[in-house]
Amino acid sequence: MHVTFLGTGSAMPTGERFQAGILVQNDDRTLLVDCGSGVLHRLQQSGVGYESVSTVLLTHHHLDHVADLLPLMKARWLAGEEHLEVVGPQGTKALLDDLLSVHEYMQDKLDLQVREVVPGEFSVADFDVTAYETRHSLPCLAYRFGDLFTFSGDTEAFAGLANFAEGSAILAHDCSFPDDVDVSNHPTPEALGRELAGRDIGRVYLTHLYPHTEGRHEEMLESIGTHYDGDVRFAEDLMTISVE
Ligand SMILES: [Zn+2]
Ligand SMILES: [Zn+2]
Repeated sequence: MHVTFLGTGSAMPTGERFQAGILVQNDDRTLLVDCGSGVLHRLQQSGVGYESVSTVLLTHHHLDHVADLLPLMKARWLAGEEHLEVVGPQGTKALLDDLLSVHEYMQDKLDLQVREVVPGEFSVADFDVTAYETRHSLPCLAYRFGDLFTFSGDTEAFAGLANFAEGSAILAHDCSFPDDVDVSNHPTPEALGRELAGRDIGRVYLTHLYPHTEGRHEEMLESIGTHYDGDVRFAEDLMTISVE
């Protein structure tokens, strides 16, 4: 399996970090997880292209995770592609209906299928996925792809999610801010390290990075490292990881 970070930024993108998006590929299967602003551009830069993405899986409905959905639809339509499936938590149907009622001319351009999922197991783009509800300001799902890859979505760090991720070869986890930012709905490095302590995870990539984290990577890693002694790195846009 290959995991490509398309956007490792947040609702405040930096020039280097676009909003949330991760590409999951295995053999000829391709799945886009989240579709924030800039992800459509990163898809092109990655060489995969929007023509290859016929399924999008959403963690939740904040703008930095859904902003490029309609631009993706329009690009696919212009490229001659005929369908798109959007899978996400409760409310995903209403979200797409509402977006399409604003941009009415995009209605009926694509064969759009929308599916809502709940915590538990389901299949999407031929991937077997397990979903787990996170702790965030909107209902949000973390997703696990067998023993290979877990994506936290947006969330505070908490034991339930660390349990959910345990045994993954790769965990991509929200680490929005350094420790001195007073934050709820996202973890601090200290809290993330505390919850990951003692867990068996192959490698952790930090993502959903606000501008506040720039220049502070070392201290954030140190803070996590006071509790958790595993392999932790910062994700970067267009970084691809092979997972066996
Ligand atoms: Zn969010
Ligand atoms: Zn977000």
